[in-house]
Amino acid sequence: MIALKTLKELCLMREAGRIAAGALAEAGRAVEPGVSTAEIERTAKKYIEKRGAYPTFLNYGGFPSAICVSVNNEVIHGIPSKKRVIKEGDIVSIDLGATLEGFIGDNAATFAAGKLSPEAKRLSDTTKEALHIGLKAAVAGGRVGDIGFQISKFCKGKGYGVVREYVGHGVGKNLHEDPQVPNFGTAGRGTRLLPGMTIAVEPMINQGTGDIVDRVDGFTVVTRDGKLSAHFEHTIAITKDGYDILTMV
Ligand code: MG
Repeated sequence: MIALKTLKELCLMREAGRIAAGALAEAGRAVEPGVSTAEIERTAKKYIEKRGAYPTFLNYGGFPSAICVSVNNEVIHGIPSKKRVIKEGDIVSIDLGATLEGFIGDNAATFAAGKLSPEAKRLSDTTKEALHIGLKAAVAGGRVGDIGFQISKFCKGKGYGVVREYVGHGVGKNLHEDPQVPNFGTAGRGTRLLPGMTIAVEPMINQGTGDIVDRVDGFTVVTRDGKLSAHFEHTIAITKDGYDILTMV
């Protein structure tokens, strides 16, 4: 069932989204060679808790950490660790949520540690652009398939693989609500988009094929071919005449 949000609920989601976006930016600023992924987590967790919110991912489905940090060939759900130290040229995908007064903002971005190789930079830039191309298709009256169709067409045109096993989703009082929002699909197909729907759009794009190996340590998803992966995500509300990004500072 799809929960359409009231104006009041959208205001609460915007507040949660603001905290999630601020925490993501803060975590991104902490990304540099020599820093452990556990330190990045500590920075984000502190930011969220200081603002009276709860880090949504902590204990969600047994996840042991406040945020996901996925480096290089890791796609999503990387577990922060003191032993995992960021190196020059790494791409670091950070995914986090903030829960405030029962509502959730969910967002992700890939950050550069020092100077990236041209290939890594191109993948990261393309994935970010893919998110915004997907968002442009997220309009009332359209269909969920429009979003994935645009993302997939764009990324495949650049020679990249689109992850299919993990997808975007409705978000609100729960981290994962209906509908699912895949990063592939058929234009004109799927759930109709309506004002008041709140969804997380989150392309996970691989340098090689879209194939993954699932939960290598219970959670972390990695690319099957060992090549790089990038991830960008916003929580948005569908409006009468377009969309509103809720995960904005
Ligand atoms: Mg998400």
